Formats: sequence, structure tokens, C-alpha cells
Amino acid sequence: MEVNFPANKISDYFGSNVFDKKKMKEYLSKEAFESIIKSIESGEPIPRDMADHVASAMKAWAIGKGATHYTHWFQPLTGTTAEKHDAFFEPTPDGAMEKFSGDALAQQEPDASSFPNGGIRNTFEARGYTAWDPSSPAFIMGRTLCIPTVFVSYTGEALDYKVPLLKALNALDKAAVDVCQYFDKSIEKVNASLGIEQEYFLVDLALFNARPDMYMTGRTLFGHMSAKNQQLEDHYFGSIPSRVYAFMQDFETEALQLGIPLKTRHNEVAPSQFECAPIYEEINLAIDHNQLLMDVMDRVGKRHNFKVLLHEKPYAGVNGSGKHNNWSMITNTGKNLLSPGKTPKSNLMFLTFFVNTIKAVYEHADLLRASIATVNNDHRLGANEAPPAIISIFLGSQLSEVLDEIETSRISKRIKEDSLLWQGIPKIPQILQDNTDRNRTSPFAFTGNKFELRAVGSSANSANPMTILNMIVADQLRRFKIDVDKLLKKGEKKDVALLTVIKKYIKDSKSIRFEGNGYSEEWEKLAATRNLSNIKTTPKALDALITEKSDVLFENTGVFTRREAHARYEILLDDFYKKLQIEARVMGELVNSVIIPTAIAYQSKLVENVKGLKDIGMDESAYAAQLDIIKKLSEHINFIKTNVDQMVNERKKANIIENTRNKAIAYDEKVKAFFDPIRYHVDKLEQLVDDSLWPLPKFRELLFIK
Ligand code: ADP
Ligand code: MG
Repeated sequence: MEVNFPANKISDYFGSNVFDKKKMKEYLSKEAFESIIKSIESGEPIPRDMADHVASAMKAWAIGKGATHYTHWFQPLTGTTAEKHDAFFEPTPDGAMEKFSGDALAQQEPDASSFPNGGIRNTFEARGYTAWDPSSPAFIMGRTLCIPTVFVSYTGEALDYKVPLLKALNALDKAAVDVCQYFDKSIEKVNASLGIEQEYFLVDLALFNARPDMYMTGRTLFGHMSAKNQQLEDHYFGSIPSRVYAFMQDFETEALQLGIPLKTRHNEVAPSQFECAPIYEEINLAIDHNQLLMDVMDRVGKRHNFKVLLHEKPYAGVNGSGKHNNWSMITNTGKNLLSPGKTPKSNLMFLTFFVNTIKAVYEHADLLRASIATVNNDHRLGANEAPPAIISIFLGSQLSEVLDEIETSRISKRIKEDSLLWQGIPKIPQILQDNTDRNRTSPFAFTGNKFELRAVGSSANSANPMTILNMIVADQLRRFKIDVDKLLKKGEKKDVALLTVIKKYIKDSKSIRFEGNGYSEEWEKLAATRNLSNIKTTPKALDALITEKSDVLFENTGVFTRREAHARYEILLDDFYKKLQIEARVMGELVNSVIIPTAIAYQSKLVENVKGLKDIGMDESAYAAQLDIIKKLSEHINFIKTNVDQMVNERKKANIIENTRNKAIAYDEKVKAFFDPIRYHVDKLEQLVDDSLWPLPKFRELLFIK
């Protein structure tokens, strides 16, 4: 495939399909421009009369770029994005014209009663609204103007990923600014930032389409590992195959035009596994961009006859894929609150945010675990693969030492308020050696000036884990302020008060810190002695969403109402068992109508061969091998037939369970339990049966791109 670039320099076309500030300025009156900038910064809605101006400017820009339609673009709880296109065009008495009003920009009422809502919306009140989120700019995809929106029910409950995220970011902003006041009165706003590393697999589209399991479930339910896979470690960071390189350049070009600041590309560990990463952005935008990116990749992939596999575990036996979420907090004055400073005083500020993040994750590890729990991600988190189901935090040796030092030191009460400082505050080098010390087995690692949540699944919408992370840090910072203020009221000096609380938090949260190998059995044992949870499966991990403790947290931060949290819980359980149900059905269907007939066809050939050899008077030694294979084929056929029958039976039992949690657990423990044994025997058949008869493309064909 030849790739066409709009210009030689990326900077010449970066963001060309986005209605960004620069274009707003060009297309809007001064007054309208200032009004919209104010709304973007304050989060307040745009005044009604201004919306008309903005809409007509947007329309003029979009039509100038060839757009014929517009859509509200939103992120329902299906995990993907949703859009319903309307034409600008409207017939008039004397012809037709293009129209787009402020109303159409600000709000739509999608006829969307079949999005997941977890019982919030009854069909008789099936109305849902999408409303423009001006903090994320409009963009053009194909010939459609897309307006990023939130999605709420008639009764005001969130039906999407964005509303709670925006609320969590708001809570974080407020709590972090309050804490910043101890150090720097000029700080007025704190934004969370996020850089998402996206892993994915590529497979030839024709081969993908020849595998019903892949196109129905996103992963291979069968398939023996190829003789060569990732054991030679020859793929990682290797030279990129030319067909893949063309695809990368093509989707990057589209993404860059959409303002997605893609920066990095490379091969990943498994064969035909790759990664791309943008430069970090404000979190809401970073998440919109990641959702958009997944869409662009999928679409551009087809042009190159590739299927982009975003599934967390498309192939058993090689690495799965994740989406590393690099997260930090940055002030309006440009300071990264997770970046160690030059002076002890700025380091006290760093330590405050650093330790509060650790404490937040310690307090709500189960909630963070729940936020990354999906049926696909169980293949990674529950198995001995990156990262484990136990939430722990990796800090690197230098910062671990710093925290240990603080924990054991004495706080001198005799220091003067402004003197630099307390004898116990250790020196923190600005450039941490551990920047390069990559503990790849940790689900939550500090990497120099940011934390990296590595346990997010590759197909997930990051909004969910990021809502939880920002919410728990917000709540923790709020508590920190209460604790510090208590000491200040008692007449403690500020720095002493801050350090006293920090020291206490370091002690309290110590058990969540782990520097060793997160995949090892020793860690599982050690974590158990530390009382850390190790919840391997989704239905149980999700319990954390509906505990008393979480209810209090949701209420304190205002991120979810009880009803919303319970609705989400139901939706996630539903998604879990339904995906297993589909996998089980595909498995049964393939075994009965593809695998067994193929094995029998081969067996019949062998039987004929044996009969023929007998007929011409050969003795038994001449067909001993054939008899052996015939016998083995029968064994495997019998095994998979009886196990599929039993699995179907368990499915029937699970289907009549009313309670969604029990149903999900039944699917997990009773139905899914058959997957591996059935697969094992099917894979044995794959190795026995004549290659020319085997109808499914094999791993050696799927995994190596030609
Ligand atoms: P790695 O070695 O893990 O690839 P990088 O430094 O290349 O680490 O960063 C990976 C991602 O983290 C990129 O998307 C990058 O923009 C992002 N990132 C870097 N600094 C920050 C930060 N302060 N906050 C959030 N994300 C960041
Ligand atoms: Mg990284």
C-alpha cells in the first residue's frame, strides 16, 4: 500500500481536522471566541445566544472541509463510541440549504433506548440526552463533523464514561488546589494528565475472516502454539515489517490530522504485536483521543488488509496486550506535582502528592482492581502474566529509601517555620535513577515524574480506571487537608504538621509497596500475609463497586450516585457473562460442525487405508501407525464431544440463574472451566489431522505477517 502524506512536515497537518482554538479564533467573532474559551476553562455551559454563533462557525469550517453531516459523538457503557449522523442539508421551498443551529450543537436526544443502562432507564422513559462537552474540541471524520458529548438519562443519571470522569477531575482539581495552598498560593487549578501507551496485534484480514472464533469473540478459542513464537525474543523493538510500517504511517497520519499527538511506535514482545503512544495531554482529551485512535486504527487497518486486534489476549501462549496509563497532576503554573523538586521545600510538596497517591491506592486498591476488571483482562490479571491481580506499587529503590528514611526519622519540633527544614527530610535527586529501572511486573509503578497504571486492558476505555484513580486521590487529598489542619489548629508549625501526616501515611500504607517480581509465587504468598487482595476474576472483583466504603467515597467526591454505581455494577456483570456465553457458543458450534467432522473425515481416510493394506495382504505392522492415530483421534473426538455436551448443560443451568452476580460466577466457574480442556484436545487434533484438511488457519500462519 502506498501512503499519501498531506505534507512533508507533520507540523503542517497536525490538527487540521480539528476545530481547535486557532480555528475558532479565525471563524468566530471576538466576543463569541472569548465566551467559548471561558466555558472551556470554567466548565460552565455556553450561553444560548453564543451557541448559535459557535454552531454557524463550526458549520462554515466543516462544510469548507467537505463535511455533509454532523453527529454527537459519545461514549456509552458498551466501551466503544457511538454516533448517529444527521445531514446539515434541509429542503426549503425553493431548493435546499445547509443548516446547523445552536440547539443542534448543544444538545441531542438520540433515540437510543438500547444502550446499556443497568436498570436506570425503563423503556417508558427511554429518553437520553447528549450534551456538548466544550473541553474536547469538535473534529471531522470522513465527511462528518463529530461533536464530543456527554450522555445522560432523562432523570440526569450518567449513561456514559465521560460524566463521572469529568466529576472526578473536578473533585481532584478542588482537593489538589486546596492542598497546594500550603505551598504556593498562586496555584488555582490542577489538571490530571494522561499518556496512554496502546498495545495491539495485527493479523491478515483474510486469515482473520477464516477464523469464526476470532471474528465472533476477538480471540482464538483454539489453536496450537506455533513451534516458534516469542522464545527467541527477536521481535521486540526489531525492525518493523514493511507492510506494517505502511499501515502505521497511514493511521498515524489520520490520527495526527485529528490532533492526536502520536509520538512513538515499535514492535512489542509477541510476534505481530505492536505499540504506539502519544504525548500526554489533559486527561479528558487523552481519553477521547485514545477512543478515537482505536477507531482510526481499525478503519485504516482494513485498507491494508489487516485486522487490528485490541483484545487483551488474542493468542494463548504469547503475551497479551495492555494499555499503560501514565498519569500525573499538573498545576496551572506548569508544575508537575509528581516531579521531585530542587529544594527541600519543593520536595515536601512533591512528597505530599506522592505519598497521598500511594495512600489512596492503598485505601482503595480493591476499587482500582474493579476498575480494570473485564472478561478479557482476566486472561492477563488472573494468569501469570503482566500484571498480576494483586494491586501493589513499585517506587524504585531511591524513593523507597527516601520513604523508609522519613518513616524512621524523628520530626524536630524546634525548627523555625521558614527554615529549611526538618532534619528528617532526605535529599531526593531530581533525576531518579529509577527512571530507567523498569519493573514490568508491577501494576502501578512510579516512573520518575508520573505513575503508570499498567493493568488496564488494551481494549478498555481508560475513562473507567482514570475516574477511579482521580477520585480516590481527590478523596485522599481532602482527608490529608483535614489531618493537617487539625495539627495546625493545635498550634503545630506548618512544615511539621505536613511531615507528621506524611510520615503517618507512609507507615499506614507500607504494605502496598512492593519492589520485587510481581509474577512470582513468593509474591502471592507474601501479599497474602500482608492482607492484600488477590481477586483473580471479574465477578468478584466488581464487588468493590457496591461496598459501604465505596458508597461513602462516591458520595464524598460526588462522582457517582448510589444508583449510578449499582447500575454500572450490573452492566459490567452483564457484559462479563454475555461475553463468556458467546465464547461458549462459538466453541460448541465450532467443535460440532467444524472440528469433529474434520477429524472424522481424516479418520475415515485412515480407516480406508488400513482396509486397503489388509486387502492386499499386508500384516499388522504395516498399518500399526495408522491404527494408533485412528485410536487417538477417537479419544480426542470423544473427549471434546462429551465435554462440549457438559458445557452446554452448564450453560443452560447458568442461564436460568436470576441474580446477575451468581450468573456471572456460574459462567466463570462452571462454563469457562471447560474451555481449556476442550481447547487442549482440539489442539491435539490440529496436530494429528492432515494439514490439507484442517480448515482453520494455524498460529504459524496468523502470527507471522508476510
Ligand atoms: P516509557 O518508557 O514507559 O515508554 P515515556 O517517558 O516514553 O515512557 O512515556 C510514556 C507515556 O507517558 C507517553 O505517552 C508520555 O507522553 C507519557 N508521559 C510522560 N510524562 C508524563 C506526565 N508527566 N504525565 C502523564 N504522562 C506522561
Ligand atoms: Mg511505559
